[in-house]
Amino acid sequence: METPNVPEPDSQASTTESTSDVTEPLDRYECSPCGYVYEPLKGDSVGGILARTPFKDLPVTWRCPVCGARKNVFANIGPAGNDAGFKANYGYGFGVNTMTSSQKSLLIFGGLALAGIVMLSFYGLN
Ligand SMILES: [Zn+2]
Repeated sequence: METPNVPEPDSQASTTESTSDVTEPLDRYECSPCGYVYEPLKGDSVGGILARTPFKDLPVTWRCPVCGARKNVFANIGPAGNDAGFKANYGYGFGVNTMTSSQKSLLIFGGLALAGIVMLSFYGLN
């Protein structure tokens, strides 16, 4: 008995090591002393910072427009846009619950009457 010597491909060669230099330029930074949030999408009109300026690209002379704190007291609080997806699904729950009791009884009575008619028709057939 000889097992065929099938060469197996060494799967260790395909380690996807992607050293992607992902810069996250749109992270927001919060001023620790006063709570001011620098939003890169808006920039800082007070300090003459254009919109879409990453925090790290702010000049070292940049100060908090509210309290004048330096950049090193700002804390990264992540990118904006976390408040999306809060649109509640209004419009659900409209169905049987919106029917009045008379409509419900009419529906039930109609169903019973229909069932009775069907039973009578079967009875008549016999
Ligand atoms: Zn501040």
